[in-house]
Amino acid sequence: MDRMTIGRRVAVTARGFRILGNYCPGLVQGKVFYELIHSLQPFVTVWLSAKIINELSGEQRIRRIAVLVVWVIVINFICAVVKNSIQRVCSEKETQMWGWFGKVFSDKQMSLDFEDLENAKIQRQRQEAEENLFMFGNGLAQLVWGTSGLVKASVDIAASMVMIGPLFFSKSGNPAADHPAWMFAVLFCILLGGLSKSKATIKENRIFMKWCQGTVWFNRTFMFFGRELYVNPERAKDVRIYQQDLIAEKELDKLIRRDRENQGDYFQMAFFPAAATVAVGLANMAGYLLVAVKAYFGAFGVGSIVQYVAVLQRLGDGLQELMFLLSDNQVYCTHLQKLFDYLDLPGHMYQGTLTVEKRDDNEYFVEFRNVSFRYPGAEQYALRHVNFRFKVGGRLAIVGMNGSGKTTFIKLLCRLYDPTEGEILLNGVDIRKYDYEEYMSIFSVVFQDFRLFSFGLGQNVAAGFAYDPERAASCLEKAGFGDRLGSMPQGLDTCLYKDFEKDGVEISGGEAQKIALARALYKSAPFMILDEPTAALDPVAEGEVYSRFDEIVGDKTAVYISHRLSSCRFCDVIAVFDQGQIVQKGSHEQLVADEKGKYFELWHAQAQYYKK
Ligand code: ADP
Repeated sequence: MDRMTIGRRVAVTARGFRILGNYCPGLVQGKVFYELIHSLQPFVTVWLSAKIINELSGEQRIRRIAVLVVWVIVINFICAVVKNSIQRVCSEKETQMWGWFGKVFSDKQMSLDFEDLENAKIQRQRQEAEENLFMFGNGLAQLVWGTSGLVKASVDIAASMVMIGPLFFSKSGNPAADHPAWMFAVLFCILLGGLSKSKATIKENRIFMKWCQGTVWFNRTFMFFGRELYVNPERAKDVRIYQQDLIAEKELDKLIRRDRENQGDYFQMAFFPAAATVAVGLANMAGYLLVAVKAYFGAFGVGSIVQYVAVLQRLGDGLQELMFLLSDNQVYCTHLQKLFDYLDLPGHMYQGTLTVEKRDDNEYFVEFRNVSFRYPGAEQYALRHVNFRFKVGGRLAIVGMNGSGKTTFIKLLCRLYDPTEGEILLNGVDIRKYDYEEYMSIFSVVFQDFRLFSFGLGQNVAAGFAYDPERAASCLEKAGFGDRLGSMPQGLDTCLYKDFEKDGVEISGGEAQKIALARALYKSAPFMILDEPTAALDPVAEGEVYSRFDEIVGDKTAVYISHRLSSCRFCDVIAVFDQGQIVQKGSHEQLVADEKGKYFELWHAQAQYYKK
């Protein structure tokens, strides 16, 4: 565990509070207010009680005693009412805070460059910060809990010091009992208790940090071999047929054995706090001895004995709490720093500001100019020297074998990645210069691995909570989902899947495809791209979906991607990809006539699937 300087810790803690203020407003303030009242209340009660006892054992003025008792009751009543109200608000906010912490991560994920979502190092960084926060509260949650402790410790120490002063300075008449050495001895013992607590915390935290570092690996292994294999029905088939539960048991066994090796650490985690408790006990004994000796020699009355004994305990507790928090702060600052390292990951993609020209005539030109692309960390180029120009409004097909670079071409077009070399132009302007969100708005893509969500059907189509029902129904109709929509129990409001609604409807792969197509239509972007969302269909069925979609898209640009040539033969321009390059382009008739071309080779190799 690297030690941070105090200045750094203050800066990190302050940033943590700023994040809490943004995502969980009012929570920290509520905790501070609650704890102030909660910690001050016993001091006021002890102080008033000491006065009552002194009065009872002294002058016994009934009126004064009655006034003091009324004060005790009124103050405690008001404190209880205020505390209860704040606690209600705070506990609701504290329950919600976990959801808001999730939002801290999802906001960052959304702002990351797409390529970083696939970067294992970055995703591991996220997972570590996320797991430590959600499993142990390390970082932000500790900051919330630590706030209460800090207020309590500060009040305990300040109020105790004020109330304990007379113990040291009151005179009993006995020179030995009144000697200042007592004060130093008692304070020294209390300090010793606090320091041992701090030492115990540091030791405990060091072991805990070491343990936390292994949690990402531990959780991943445990969740996979202990749960996922048995819970996920898609995996369960293979698990049963190939008896993979035997392998899983072996892995779990290894995990448990490794955990046993840490048992020496557990002993240390128990030993140091116990040693601290003994030191604190000694500190208290020294204090009580002074109270007893001074009281014996008549320095103060019975009421004051009650006050000093209670306050001594609080001073010791407060100091220990403060020491604990200061040591603990080192740990959560380390976790917070890890969270900030992730939150501060910079975007690499150039963010332009130009607005995309909204053209009624849909006259857009797209040009790939000598574009090459290599995935981060990959040695091979996925695309090499691609030169291509096409006009919006046409039908473009991208065909080629699996792995030839078709999807990569689309990912570059949609700016999920930027080219390694070369440039892509929209109406003559490098697409990097356009505002990213605006640029994205001109594409509707249905990817092969598209995802629908467990929300209402209409919400899925509109990709939003509010939607135009007529438009959603019409898009579903066009996508071939019209009849099925009629049989949905609550029409567009029917929830898909059963994750959130027990009445949710399970849909087949083919139905999901139609909904995904309807979603693309609903967005009504100038570019409609189908990237083999139909891979699960046979070639004839895929061809039908593509040509039906072609009728629907009207004057928009449609880009079809497939490794099955027959699906795209109706397109105006077909670009043939091979090993990351465009090796041919032209209409189906032109390409199939070139007997030496790749298209001819692929066409005849695949002809068996669709020749009657
Ligand atoms: P296609 O869509 O034609 O099947 P892709 O564009 O998906 O082909 O892939 C082109 C090449 O890039 C392949 O060699 C593939 O293995 C590689 N590739 C695809 N995605 C990634 C990725 N995320 N990271 C590294 N390599 C990738």
